[in-house]
Amino acid sequence: MSGFAPRPTGPVAALKAYDPGHDLPALRARAAPAALAELGSNENPLGPPPAVLDALHRLPVAEVFRYPDPLGLALRRSLAARLDVDPSMIALGNGSHELLMLLAQCFAAPGDEVVFSEFGFAVFPIGTAAVGATPVRVPALPRAGDAPRGHDLAALAAAVGPGARLVFVANPNNPTGTWFTRDALREFLRTIDPRVPVVVDEAYHEYVDDPAVGSAVELLAAFPNLVVTRTFSKGYGLAGLRVGYAVGDPATIDVLNRLRESFNVNAVALELARIALDDPGHLERVRAFNRDQRARLAAGLAARGLFVHPSMTNFVLVDFDRPAAPIEARWLARGVVVRPMGGYGLPTCLRISVGAVAENDRLLAHLDEALS
Ligand SMILES: *Cc1c(COP(=O)(O)O)cnc(C)c1O
Repeated sequence: MSGFAPRPTGPVAALKAYDPGHDLPALRARAAPAALAELGSNENPLGPPPAVLDALHRLPVAEVFRYPDPLGLALRRSLAARLDVDPSMIALGNGSHELLMLLAQCFAAPGDEVVFSEFGFAVFPIGTAAVGATPVRVPALPRAGDAPRGHDLAALAAAVGPGARLVFVANPNNPTGTWFTRDALREFLRTIDPRVPVVVDEAYHEYVDDPAVGSAVELLAAFPNLVVTRTFSKGYGLAGLRVGYAVGDPATIDVLNRLRESFNVNAVALELARIALDDPGHLERVRAFNRDQRARLAAGLAARGLFVHPSMTNFVLVDFDRPAAPIEARWLARGVVVRPMGGYGLPTCLRISVGAVAENDRLLAHLDEALS
């Protein structure tokens, strides 16, 4: 260490870095040549559509000296056609994480309030803190009987006061896996000051199989303050490429574009994401596989009397009703990686991704030992 003492701005000085759960490259190196069961990051074990991998092998690599299209127009047009919106309603991001941070930067400043739920996605408080805004963390619905810790939309709406400049909700939510219906969202939006942007993070939209949940995209015409974020990281199996998108009123997208880095999505990601959109059959297979394996994991865990939050995502949140760290450590000793939840204020819970069949097998095979 040089002894140099950097002086970040007040908000940045108070910021804690995003917690990825584990140092996976280090864990992989330690486990090698054995493989880990990687169930901590909600990745899609089926990967992207096969056409994406074919295209990856045929990329014009000699073109790497060129900048990508700063407008990402080909991908935005493909997305716009699928969502039945105009391309001017879409902004691309280096993952939706980047877009969530940008939304906070665009709409909240010190003294402003940003409203989100307890147990909401980790990036909501990080984005809020990064801009020095005041977080308004609304208690989630209590876990009671079979009822999970979902967003309390009525309490969230009531918390949007005159100082609020931004609202974040996730549907379905990470890490709880919980969801709300399109009708509930419409009611929520009706009660909120129409000048306050409401961000609906739909990172797990591709896994939703209840038509009553639908998508907030269907409500964009009625609520111009709505912004929907999506990603290619989960259902499309492209977490390593970093592509997300925001859909909203052209005026909102215009504000995002003022702050967005000009070449924030790289050329390979732009090309492969567009190809991924062309195989809806793959998404069907991903959804069916996930539904199947998620049910299997949930049944195995519930059979030991554990509380498994209902989920419409590619993970389950399990409550052990006692400190989960020793349970996690015993799984880890067997090469099974899950996600600790202490940082979310859920130290009795672990979040378990739906992995490949062999990975899920391994988790269940070591379940009794982990609980011992
Ligand atoms: C994974 C995730 C994201 C971020 O995904 P990117 O890889 O940055 O696109 C956003 N929101 C939620 C709720 C997530 O779980």
